[in-house]
Amino acid sequence: MNGYIVEREKKTEITRTTEVLVAGGGIAGIAAAIAAARNGKKVVLLEREYALGGMATLGLVTIYLPLCDGEGRQLVFGIGEELLKLSIAHGAEANHPHAWLDGDSLEERIKNRYMTQFNPHLFALRAEALLLELGVTVLYGTLACAVTTEGGAITSVVVENKSGRSAIAVESVIDCTGDADICHLAGARTALHDGGNGLASWYYYFSGGKVSLKMFGLADVVPGRATEREAGGEQNGFEAVKVESLDKNVRFSGVDGEELSRAVIAGHGKMLEDIMSHRRADEAFVPVTISTIPLVRMSRRLVGTYTLDETESRKFMPDSIGMTGDWRKRGPAYELPFRALYGTEVKNLLAAGRDISVTDAMWDITRVIPPCAVTGEAAGMAAAIGSDFARLDVAELQKRLTAQGVKLHLD
Ligand SMILES: Cc1cc2nc3c(=O)[nH]c(=O)nc-3n(C[C@H](O)[C@H](O)[C@H](O)COP(=O)(O)OP(=O)(O)OC[C@H]3O[C@@H](n4cnc5c(N)ncnc54)[C@H](O)[C@@H]3O)c2cc1C
Repeated sequence: MNGYIVEREKKTEITRTTEVLVAGGGIAGIAAAIAAARNGKKVVLLEREYALGGMATLGLVTIYLPLCDGEGRQLVFGIGEELLKLSIAHGAEANHPHAWLDGDSLEERIKNRYMTQFNPHLFALRAEALLLELGVTVLYGTLACAVTTEGGAITSVVVENKSGRSAIAVESVIDCTGDADICHLAGARTALHDGGNGLASWYYYFSGGKVSLKMFGLADVVPGRATEREAGGEQNGFEAVKVESLDKNVRFSGVDGEELSRAVIAGHGKMLEDIMSHRRADEAFVPVTISTIPLVRMSRRLVGTYTLDETESRKFMPDSIGMTGDWRKRGPAYELPFRALYGTEVKNLLAAGRDISVTDAMWDITRVIPPCAVTGEAAGMAAAIGSDFARLDVAELQKRLTAQGVKLHLD
């Protein structure tokens, strides 16, 4: 602690008014903005970086994990599936999901889970074009850094960008920051993940006449790939990966500015060493692109009205807003309750993606791309219906989600 300063009180200009403000343009934010805009709302999406997709594109986490339960049943529909198709609109980098898109047999669908690998740059550009087509205002280089509240609701979100500090007046807010920044700023209850995060620093490289992805450090590798490969499944389209720990002693929370910089710098150092060791063996080896946002798995989340746990597979949720499987194993299937998206403290605030209310064990399941899209879509649709989320007409939300292709319950 180096003492403190008192900033001069100043008037912050309200430069915009919007019906729905989506904070964060990762997968959850993209899905939320699509759903709210398609359902008639004026939407502003804030993104701190200068491209959409968050971890999935700028972090180079380019594997769209399974939309199915591993036993041949599709669980993720709606925007979760639409975004998978968009991500490979110009071809899959690996593992085009033929078994699912070209109507193959159940046997093939069991053998090959509904997942793919996409090009991060094309996906980010296509997502941006889609949001613009839908009339979403995308503000890049814009950090949500404060909120004003009145009567238990957010009235404006204060942002900082090249123009300085300004405010956006809102009817409702969807927190898709991945770290529950808005929940934290607005005084909603939040929790940190107990285990923190390990180092990861993914990059693409060119060698042997082709560009490949190096999942450097922690990676979410679907188990059983080798077995699937032996069985003739199409999963062999993925690069063979050896997941290595970059430094077992480094753990970081994901919500401390200085610690995040140290983690990223440590990852860069290891990456440089790795690249140099490859160049010694192959002088044509060059990095093509490196992850440009911190690779954070679980950091801060909302403590919502319901906190979903890993043990609740196949449990009926009356307020389900969609489903997900478990990318790590075959069999589990979860109905995601709307109550995990809102808390009791702030009426007009929803969480989506990595920010939703789940236990530490469940977090590892809901933090990946497909469930982030499912909760983003539900949040966007809910914000199109009302702004007092604890009192929202859930039957109407479910009716609209179903009409737009989402499947809410297991058979
Ligand atoms: C090492 C690693 C490997 C992974 N592997 C896979 C994988 O193979 N497949 C898979 O499906 N998932 C994987 N994941 C998880 C997955 O990629 C992400 O958890 C998921 O994409 C998160 O989406 P999100 O939209 O919730 O959050 P994010 O992608 O984190 O998006 C949040 C966005 O909000 C922006 N933002 C943050 N704070 C603010 C603010 N205050 N104001 C404005 N903007 C803000 C950020 O810039 C970012 O764009 C992996 C994660 C890690 C760390």
